[in-house]
Amino acid sequence: MTFNTLSIEDILHGYERKRLNNKRLLQDRKEEVYSKIPEIEEIDKSSALSYLDYARKKVMKLAPSSYEDTASSNRRLEEKKRTLLKEHGYPENYLEPIYNCKLCQDTGYVGTDKCNCFIDQMINSLYLQSNLKNVLSKENFDTFSMEYYSKELMDGRQFSPYDNMYNIVQKSHQFIKRFEEQKKERGNLLIYGETGLGKTFLTNCIAKELLDKKHSVLYLSSNELFENILGGYLMQQKIELEDLYKYIYNCELLIIDDLGTELTNSFVQSQLFEIINKRELSGLSTLISTNLSMLQLRDKYSERIMSRIVANYTVFNIYGDNIRYQKRKKAINSIT
Ligand SMILES: [Zn+2]
Repeated sequence: MTFNTLSIEDILHGYERKRLNNKRLLQDRKEEVYSKIPEIEEIDKSSALSYLDYARKKVMKLAPSSYEDTASSNRRLEEKKRTLLKEHGYPENYLEPIYNCKLCQDTGYVGTDKCNCFIDQMINSLYLQSNLKNVLSKENFDTFSMEYYSKELMDGRQFSPYDNMYNIVQKSHQFIKRFEEQKKERGNLLIYGETGLGKTFLTNCIAKELLDKKHSVLYLSSNELFENILGGYLMQQKIELEDLYKYIYNCELLIIDDLGTELTNSFVQSQLFEIINKRELSGLSTLISTNLSMLQLRDKYSERIMSRIVANYTVFNIYGDNIRYQKRKKAINSIT
């Protein structure tokens, strides 16, 4: 997955539209207020004139005393305007410039950096491109079913698959709640278990809840993360991946799906450590799902990665009977 230039242009056009709309809206407001409170129109006219005067004197490098008066009379006029607005039942800032994002003033940039609102839109259109939105509309807590988790005890397990999963779902809700209540250090999750037990489904449920609440969530399969993005940006110097690369380190929740399915090498090992470590230091959450057991994880990655995970992650171990087999069996039984 790469971010094509077409989407960037779309986003920039979107900002243009926002600025234009807001400008029109402000113009409408002015006309409305001028007709109701003519005094404000007079104030605007005279403060525009005195601003020109102020600028002229400053450019001519006249003594500050000669333009300080202008500045303070402008401040008085502004104050008067606010009072008049309030007296007529308008908010004080009714005639100030309108922005959807105050941070970047709807330019998409803060200095030379892309504003968070820009990045959010990129991620959003990335989801559209990658079909994730579609998946999340089908796989969420409303459609999550416990019927595939048996209530019978399994060998060597303290809880039945049903009770275990029930517990995990409760804890997932707690994770989401904590995410809402806290700004940082909202915790991390490691979900492991064999294939076909609903790990990705559960991950999708969590992602959907947080995305719906407007949190920034970056959802990547292990392969996309290491091969396409990190490999592309760090090894092949694909500069167009820079924003995504940065987003890996500053989105509120990073989801690494199916860890262990990538081609694991020393590059992957060191990058995984970087990600886990740096995100932990900045108090940002990470969710990892994997088919590997804790022992296999330790063998495949490194002790230092595992010690971070053990210390800082809530671990969910999903077990039971493969749901895909169960569904297939059910389908066959309904035919015969
Ligand atoms: Zn912004």
